Amino acid sequence: MDLGIKGRHALVCASSKGLGRACALSLAREGAELTLVARGAQALEETAAAIRAETGVTVTAVVADVTTAEGRAAVLAACPQPDILVTNAGGPKPGDFRDWDRDVWMAALNDNMFTPIELIRSTVDGMIARRFGRIVNITSGAVKAPIDILGLSNGARSGLTGFVAGLARKTVAHNVTINNLLPGPFETDRLRETARQWALKNQQTEEAALAQRRAANPAQRFGTPAEFGDACAYLCSAQAGFITGQNLLMDGGAYPGTF
Ligand code: NAP
Repeated sequence: MDLGIKGRHALVCASSKGLGRACALSLAREGAELTLVARGAQALEETAAAIRAETGVTVTAVVADVTTAEGRAAVLAACPQPDILVTNAGGPKPGDFRDWDRDVWMAALNDNMFTPIELIRSTVDGMIARRFGRIVNITSGAVKAPIDILGLSNGARSGLTGFVAGLARKTVAHNVTINNLLPGPFETDRLRETARQWALKNQQTEEAALAQRRAANPAQRFGTPAEFGDACAYLCSAQAGFITGQNLLMDGGAYPGTF
């Protein structure tokens, strides 16, 4: 299926690695021009070069921290009028809520709620004026099924989800959709780092920790970033204009509910 986004411009945040990179690659394979963002220049340049080489699309790489006002200004200067916006940033650290003071909460809310809202605020009216826009927020399965040690993520991402639920119903009449993609366990650097820490704490090998997590999933495996990227590209397609305000959970069936 041709997703009808050839020549559209996609701004993909936090995209030198992992899920953001996979979304960027899937969009580029459909012919979208890209602006990529990450804080580390080396991995970002490597990703940009690899995507250019494979797909031939124009890729602009911006070294910036999207969670800061200065970083977002640099990104929007490079890409003022995206047709497609994928919001993403690193997730908050695990822990016990008794240890989290106001500063810790404000940082999580800034990174995982306010930052995507600011990026939407800066780009959505242009999309409305041009009568095409696709916004996808990378959130987490924790929005649907909270993870006890990830209280900062459960809280901040649920705030974003609630906000988007309202706005998505206002923009869709202009062919601008806003949806959230909720990853369960996907095999990325972040997942491997979490497994490494778990293994250290529980006197296990990293491989044993990974195997245990794979076995606990109904699919008996982790998701692949490519699966995630292709789902994102579909939500950004011309054909997906009637899908808005949705939360697409990709977790191999781990969430046990019927709905
Ligand atoms: P990852 O493999 O660690 O990749 C993170 C990417 O984001 C890197 O390119 C990183 O580059 C960039 N990044 C991080 N913070 C940034 C910032 N402030 N500004 C710009 N770029 C930034 O992580 P991932 O697994 O793809 O996870 C992506 C998101 O999905 C995270 O919020 C994570 O919590 C969430 N998630 C992931 C899973 C999973 O299983 N993988 C499950 C649930 C939720 P730099 O470090 O160079 O900036």
